[in-house]
Amino acid sequence: MSLLFVAEGAGDDLRLQSASARAFDCKAGPNDYPAQREMHRCEGLAWLSRFLSPGFPCMVIDLSKRASWERSIAKIVHRHIPGKVLEAVHKIPAARMHYDTMLYLDASLQAAGETPASWLLPKMQTALSRNFSALRAYHACKPVSLASYYEQGIVPLTRNWLVEEAFSLFGGTIPLPEIESLVAKADLSIRKGLVWFATNPNELTNIAGHYLIMGPECMNCLWDGDKQRFGESQRRQRQRGIPTLFECAVPLAEIGCDYKRELTKLLVTEYLKGLSETPETEEWAIEFGFSLRRALRPEHIVGHTHPAVIYDSHNHGVDYHNQTTRCQWCR
Ligand SMILES: [Zn+2]
Repeated sequence: MSLLFVAEGAGDDLRLQSASARAFDCKAGPNDYPAQREMHRCEGLAWLSRFLSPGFPCMVIDLSKRASWERSIAKIVHRHIPGKVLEAVHKIPAARMHYDTMLYLDASLQAAGETPASWLLPKMQTALSRNFSALRAYHACKPVSLASYYEQGIVPLTRNWLVEEAFSLFGGTIPLPEIESLVAKADLSIRKGLVWFATNPNELTNIAGHYLIMGPECMNCLWDGDKQRFGESQRRQRQRGIPTLFECAVPLAEIGCDYKRELTKLLVTEYLKGLSETPETEEWAIEFGFSLRRALRPEHIVGHTHPAVIYDSHNHGVDYHNQTTRCQWCR
């Protein structure tokens, strides 16, 4: 199954492409990624106190760290799925457990005469929201300045922002009315009003590096059929801005129900795979792409880095070497 994630935010976007969420080599593991190690210097409950309200559970789901979610998910699974069903699930090879369909669980529930997974999932989703406060996620972009991120947060794409960005990118060489007309006609249907995130930072540096190298992909939507302008736009984007990877603690309360349902299915399945009598032969990094329909407030930005080496899929896979690895907003 082919997955495509597209990320857009004012001043930034990310687009993740992979043959599948698991079809890439992450044997090195997310924790071996230098940029992430750097960001994790803030790890611990201290930084959580900056955005959590008193009384909220201090639990952040980090998909690269099984220990961050396994215990709570185990309790949820054993509370909601009957023991005889779990015994049947143990016999299913982990490689045959697909979280998107949950057919493996449905078949086991049906065989035991139990209610289908679609009845159990809302209850487990509610339990997930009670047990966890946020999801660790990453946003890739290439802003000229990080000021707006720490003042307004990571905000959804708007046509007005794209007008300003395109006019600025071309240094005023394209008249503003022409830019406005191009933006008004652009198909932004999978981008406008959204902010996209990935949970595996390696996706953004080792696979879909063009968000860090060129910035907002929505800029490509303006030059329909005009190859010269398209090429010029990409050349200018390469020369402009600072490749930036934001690490965020995205509150579960801000994530839409559909994505939370998918996250619940993913975590339940990953837990059950761990119990399988036939485990997977290779360990894969988990990736979960999702979007918000609102701004992520600045207090939910945990940190940022400027990766030095980025995979350049638009340049025959030759690494892009970023010369700006510090900025005035670096701690
Ligand atoms: Zn910086």
